[in-house]
Amino acid sequence: MAEKKAVDEYTIEDLPGVGDATAEKLREAGYDNIMALAVASPKDLSDVTGIGEGAAAKIIASARKYADVGNFETGEEILQRRKEVKKLSTGSKALDDLLGGGLETQALTEFYGEFGSGKTQIMHQLAVFATMPVDKGGFDSDVLILDTENTFRPERIVQMANYRGVDPDETLRRIHVARAYNSHHQILLAEKASDQTKEFNARLLIVDSLTSHFRSEYMGRGSLAERQQLLNRHMHDLLKFGTLNNAVVAVTNQVSARPDVFFGDPTSPIGGNIVGHTATFRIYLRKSKAGKRIARLMDSPHLPEGEAVIQISEDGVADIQGS
Ligand code: ADP
Ligand code: MG
Repeated sequence: MAEKKAVDEYTIEDLPGVGDATAEKLREAGYDNIMALAVASPKDLSDVTGIGEGAAAKIIASARKYADVGNFETGEEILQRRKEVKKLSTGSKALDDLLGGGLETQALTEFYGEFGSGKTQIMHQLAVFATMPVDKGGFDSDVLILDTENTFRPERIVQMANYRGVDPDETLRRIHVARAYNSHHQILLAEKASDQTKEFNARLLIVDSLTSHFRSEYMGRGSLAERQQLLNRHMHDLLKFGTLNNAVVAVTNQVSARPDVFFGDPTSPIGGNIVGHTATFRIYLRKSKAGKRIARLMDSPHLPEGEAVIQISEDGVADIQGS
């Protein structure tokens, strides 16, 4: 097969009609790559760059043509890549089974649920498992965490590592945490994540929470389009990390009861279609009695919907005793 250039081997100056001055305006507004332009709307692009809407539409149309370059792969190539997919254990057999054996690499798995439903606990547990040996359900790898709510607690890692019989200090040394102070910072950190893997092998990238900054910074319908465009780009950066590094990408998301901003249903996750369509697996977490949580698989390309009941305790995430 003839070698095709991937979309990220082109720069925005390669687009017809984008000279140095236009490129500078686009970059200043954050449209620094062809993919970001391909998913933009002409109105947004015009609003933030000052380029006329007609010209913006032409730039987007040509970016879409470039974005298609290299997008087609044969079934054989995809099967080859799928063969490298690995599964990361959650520490609960019931939850692993629900997911067909654990969280898949080369995919993005979203855990959503209300405050206290256990999302952050599960992220800590995944971090511990990723550092564990392969025969214990881990990846023997380092972990990258983008912490947007300041909820990472090394003490919890120590508790969970002790319970699993692995050295807590060694586990902590392999978990690399970055605080993201706002959505732009979060986007930059995700772009930088790939640089980190030159220094160490990270097969798990966590973003806890994916949406909290976006939600608080872009209130109201007026800024919804911009928020969705940024979220879309961010999620594609995350997925790309998963594909290039054969890594699990795990993100958390809240549910919303704000009909004015996020369309009604109090059990619907934030981020609308953008998050829903980009997440490969979506798991809805609900609180139940005595530390129990119900995890429901909402969306998967090849698994049936279903539920698992898990226990969250000082030891982390586990199956219900006696089940
Ligand atoms: P969120 O979905 O908001 O991220 P968390 O993952 O932070 O929720 O879950 C918080 C819950 O986890 C607490 O309400 C408690 O039930 C449980 N939890 C947290 N730490 C411990 C602990 N050390 N021992 C037992 N349960 C804990
Ligand atoms: Mg949390």
